[in-house]
Amino acid sequence: MGTNSLKPGVVTGKAYFELVDACKSGGYALPAVNVTSTSTANAALEAAAKAGSDIIIQMSNGGAAFFGGPSLADSHTARVKGGVSACHHVHLMAEHYGVAVVLHTDHANRKFLPWIDGLLDFGEAYYKIHGHPLFSSHMIDLSEEDTSVNLETSARYLERMAKIDMSLEIELGITGGEEDGVGHDLEEGANTDHLYTQPEDVLAAYDLLNPIGHFSVAASFGNVHGVYKPGNVELRPEILKNSQSLVQKTHNLADNPLHLVFHGGSGSEKAKIAEALGYGVFKMNIDTDTQFAYAKPIGDYVDAHAIAFKHQIDPADGTPYKKFYDPRKWVRACEIGFADRMVESFKDLQSYGKSIAK
Ligand SMILES: [Zn+2]
Repeated sequence: MGTNSLKPGVVTGKAYFELVDACKSGGYALPAVNVTSTSTANAALEAAAKAGSDIIIQMSNGGAAFFGGPSLADSHTARVKGGVSACHHVHLMAEHYGVAVVLHTDHANRKFLPWIDGLLDFGEAYYKIHGHPLFSSHMIDLSEEDTSVNLETSARYLERMAKIDMSLEIELGITGGEEDGVGHDLEEGANTDHLYTQPEDVLAAYDLLNPIGHFSVAASFGNVHGVYKPGNVELRPEILKNSQSLVQKTHNLADNPLHLVFHGGSGSEKAKIAEALGYGVFKMNIDTDTQFAYAKPIGDYVDAHAIAFKHQIDPADGTPYKKFYDPRKWVRACEIGFADRMVESFKDLQSYGKSIAK
């Protein structure tokens, strides 16, 4: 099956599903980068355009709250409207970057299901007017609960989301480490069995969710959020392969029937990333590394122009420093750092130059 080209801009529904298939049949994945502001969203779009790759832009609940304004007293409203605001910005601007852009949300555990409900209220209202949803996909992460509860709750959400042409990402098995308040830190020498997904659980997910709608699975194979000293947990991508072949054999399907997601990719060995791509991983999350890439240039910039951050005018000779403290100068440096790190990510995931948008 040849790949149809997509229109540049945000892709949802059928266009998104085609993009997922194109990644898998092409043996590459898209980075899913967390954004928290128009600055980071623009840097992500800039990077995708520069790399000629399609991209997934996502928000955590905390990222959405920051987008909405972290001083707001009602943090639920900030989280919901912040996410919607970010979405509107990307919908408006994405087509000008010439690539396909997926809009997604990151981990929502039980506590944050009301956030997803709020986003879906806006998404349904938007769908009535535009015929497509705000977000391409949401993630629900009930991996800390019983698998049956996880799957039943996920099925309920997918029923609602499929009606507005959305996809759902679920998590089976636990991604180690902590991401924006979700998850838990790893203790040295702790038992790590819970960090590995059972292929039987993935099959149960497929059986329940596939008849309802489009979904993807964040399967855990020893991946960890954040960057840790190596050696704590072993990456075992063969778990992805075993999950794919169990579903494929049980239902007599073509290879790699599942759409798999790789969380906690920051700092992973490149060879294990490449191996995971062969097992139907189409999305790999990145946050920690791009946070650092955004922060480092401001440190360098302040080092180089320290006086401009203390005085508007030089106290000795009256030199004006406006051209150094103008936020467009140093925020721009951060954006370039972020975009450069993203380009590395497109190369690691082998999506560089492979945008299917025309
Ligand atoms: Zn994650």
